[in-house]
Amino acid sequence: MTLKTDIDLKSLVRTIPDYPKPGIMFRDITTLFGHASGFRACVEELVRPFHDQRVESVAGIEARGFILGGAAADRLRCGFVPIRKKGKLPAKAIGQDYELEYGVDVIEIHEDAISAGEPVLLVDDLIATGGTAVAAIKLLRRLKAEVIGAAFVIDLPDLGGLARLAELGVECHTLISFDGE
Ligand code: AMP
Repeated sequence: MTLKTDIDLKSLVRTIPDYPKPGIMFRDITTLFGHASGFRACVEELVRPFHDQRVESVAGIEARGFILGGAAADRLRCGFVPIRKKGKLPAKAIGQDYELEYGVDVIEIHEDAISAGEPVLLVDDLIATGGTAVAAIKLLRRLKAEVIGAAFVIDLPDLGGLARLAELGVECHTLISFDGE
């Protein structure tokens, strides 16, 4: 988590207490996205460890993972694959249940989005319990992708998501962290 940028990325993330329900501290990354040099530095830091690895696709999780994942794919000169909420993808898709910090849902991926053995980097804005990322990794592995790593701007270490991904053998790269939920 040693960053090369002088920009204080953490200070650009806005915290909204009690959203979307009481007790949740919502880490709103849209304020970072809206800051030109902050957003640029954030994407640079996010992809930094992956420049010297073979990455054929970045898979981004809806919706903030699309913004970061698209920019990351452009930096890594590779393709982008969307992982979407249920019912949003137009072609044949496979789905996976997952638990959020505040609810239960299903994410889907087009079944022809990845070729067997393809090296894929997973990207999202934040990892909390890791439930969403675990479901995304299961989807990618069902398509026989080689998940070479996962990158998140924000880690909430008290919720243990990185440990869950480590159990699956997926190495994570994160930029900033917030204590608590
Ligand atoms: P989890 O599956 O528990 O790791 O939750 C990660 C997903 O939920 C990410 O897509 C986040 O955007 C969103 N999320 C969970 N907790 C928060 C939070 N406290 N603030 C902002 N987004 C969150």
